[in-house]
Amino acid sequence: MSPTARPGPDAAPSPVLLDRDGLSALLDALHARGFDVIGPTMRDGAIVYDRIADIAALPAGWTDRQEPGRYRLERRPDVALFGYAVGPHSWKRFLHPPEETLWRARRAADGFTIIGEAPPPKPFAFLGVRACELHAIAIQDRVFLGGAHQDAGYAARRQGAFLVALACGTAAGTCFCASMGTGPRPENGFDLVLTELIDAARHEFLAVAGSDAGAAVLATLPTRPAGPQAIGAADAVLARTEASMGRHLDTHGLKERLQANPDHPHWDEVTSRCLACTNCTLVCPTCFCTSVSDHTTLAGDEAARVKRWDSCFIADFSFIHGGSVRSSGKSRYRQWLTHKLAHWIDQFGTSGCVGCGRCIAWCPVGIDITAEAAAIGAVAKEDRRGNA
Ligand code: SF4
Ligand code: SF4
Repeated sequence: MSPTARPGPDAAPSPVLLDRDGLSALLDALHARGFDVIGPTMRDGAIVYDRIADIAALPAGWTDRQEPGRYRLERRPDVALFGYAVGPHSWKRFLHPPEETLWRARRAADGFTIIGEAPPPKPFAFLGVRACELHAIAIQDRVFLGGAHQDAGYAARRQGAFLVALACGTAAGTCFCASMGTGPRPENGFDLVLTELIDAARHEFLAVAGSDAGAAVLATLPTRPAGPQAIGAADAVLARTEASMGRHLDTHGLKERLQANPDHPHWDEVTSRCLACTNCTLVCPTCFCTSVSDHTTLAGDEAARVKRWDSCFIADFSFIHGGSVRSSGKSRYRQWLTHKLAHWIDQFGTSGCVGCGRCIAWCPVGIDITAEAAAIGAVAKEDRRGNA
């Protein structure tokens, strides 16, 4: 099935309830169907995405506290399995990995033999994909698959991926998907969607199929029909999450406000704090820039062409004949923010920001994209009033 065309189940999907054993059976079913199952787990003081064998790998009873330049894990009062927001990883590290060998060449007696990279041995199944992350995957689908030239490696990894979405039950202090129109409710682009329902009386998951593949897997699991009470409880989870979202970005006219202010003094102010460390681009689930380099062995008998994540915060990234197109830190920060929130709309038809807040939490000096965009937009509004 094309990743950009994911038909829903033939009949309107009926919500069902899974208990913890049912969730465990879901993982078993995905493994049995040959998927490489990736989900959230705890490592190095953060919740990251990695291969998981069973639900024991999930971060039961943990949550995260996130603010500008700060990410900490804390114990929850319950044993929720998905009671946190997003961590430093996004699904792009699997679909668009940090490093990828495009091909290798080996010297032969009569020239070189080119060895292409093997496709991934198993399709991915992602467990716990948030609404903002579904939007981020859709954006990368558009970037890598939507143009005249498709990225063959991305296409191979994306093909057949099974997405288990999660209705967020917790918003971080850095989340603002509600104001970007990308969450917290997963709307489409998934095979199954789960909502974790946990209180003193129960711990279970409302599950709804979003594709025929999802319906087929759900049909094999131990479930029971979900009544109006459970459906109402799932709606209440999303309403609470939206109400507790830590940040907001006023997107009304934002593209025009940013594009009209390339010389706004706030660009200098934010650049005086920016370390050009590239963290924001590395954690961002939509950033896609790469560089390619060729490597040969000293003996000259083997060569490889390697693609690696790169960043518009690095001066060399825009180096062309005669020098860097963006030689100042100001021009590089402005490029990143205006591409994300303004030019991306011209280029791809949507904002490049899904409001996940990762760039805010993982910026070592706490630069906050919502505050910087608002600062430029607010003064621009005042300028317009003064000029009227
Ligand atoms: S720009 Fe920041 S908030 Fe927006 S999608 Fe990227 S990491 Fe998330
Ligand atoms: S993470 Fe912060 S300091 Fe690092 S490049 Fe991005 S904005 Fe600058």
